[in-house]
Amino acid sequence: MARKKISIVGAGHVGSHAALWIAHKEIADVTLIDVIEGMPEGKALDITHAAPVEGFDAKVAGSSDYRDLAGSDLVIIAAGLARKPGMTRGDLIDKNAGIIKGVVSEIVEKSPQALVMVVTNPLDVMVHAAWKLSGLPPERIVGMAGALDSARLRAFVAMELGVSVEDVSAMVIGGHADEMVPLKRYTTVAGIPITQLLSKERIDAIMERTKKAGGEIVGLLKTGSAYYAPSACIAEMAEAIIKDKKRVIPCAAYCKGKYGLDGVFVGVPVRLGEDGVEDIIEIELNTEEKKAFDNSVSAIKKLVEGLRF
Ligand code: NAD
Repeated sequence: MARKKISIVGAGHVGSHAALWIAHKEIADVTLIDVIEGMPEGKALDITHAAPVEGFDAKVAGSSDYRDLAGSDLVIIAAGLARKPGMTRGDLIDKNAGIIKGVVSEIVEKSPQALVMVVTNPLDVMVHAAWKLSGLPPERIVGMAGALDSARLRAFVAMELGVSVEDVSAMVIGGHADEMVPLKRYTTVAGIPITQLLSKERIDAIMERTKKAGGEIVGLLKTGSAYYAPSACIAEMAEAIIKDKKRVIPCAAYCKGKYGLDGVFVGVPVRLGEDGVEDIIEIELNTEEKKAFDNSVSAIKKLVEGLRF
């Protein structure tokens, strides 16, 4: 059986590491595309040289020609500027919206059957832009952020309790910004809510660190933003789609009616499979959680209103 094809547009830190994870796990063959000539080919060749050592047969190619998007089952958009210290994700909006516009028109023309995963920041706004510009049905476009924010929360809980990360499950919803909503009631260790394992003070501190985790890394790196965990999360979502696993992962998905919303991309738990966003799962939110979620949605809407194409 032929392997499926994933194209990644933007072969920078996030895109190239996503290519490595995806190939290493043999989820699909990968085509890396970037505007910088030679760079995607060079990185693809480098990953290919790792294949005999690590024993994976997935093929990785690089190109600066968008025609090589043809025949993709999934296109991942990781092209665009990343944050530097002192910047919010929102500061990237104008430049990255322009990049999204160009990339989406190429995807629609060269690989119209592909599902699309957006990674570029500000995430929720860029998914909205990609959907508007592509004309694709909303369930075929998904944004990666909740997987990452939840992974960060899982890591912090495991560090705090000295337990295996494998046993920690967490849920962060809302937008990929400081207003994101980590849900302590839905964060568990082997099914045990963390509210039974940690004090309120420690939980609050972990939730705050989760919200600022991207910024913590930007502050330390000084020249860009995180890429190891983001790319791992891209591979996790790509695997759910390509292998039709029906994973339940928080993703930016189009909510119309769901959560009482009137048509906005925001992080919510999604069943992810070969048809993309196959279902949006509505979880019960208490008054405090609902207020935080609504606040996050308002922040996204404000940024979406500022989109200029
Ligand atoms: P990077 O600067 O390392 O890579 C970006 C790449 O995009 C560069 O190689 C650049 O040449 C390329 N590019 C720019 N315009 C292009 C175009 N029109 N077509 C093809 N390629 C183009 O940045 P990075 O660290 O890889 O981050 C990429 C994006 O992902 C940023 O917007 C960043 O904020 C975002 N990000 C999102 C998350 C998330 O959770 N959603 C996490 C981390 C990073």
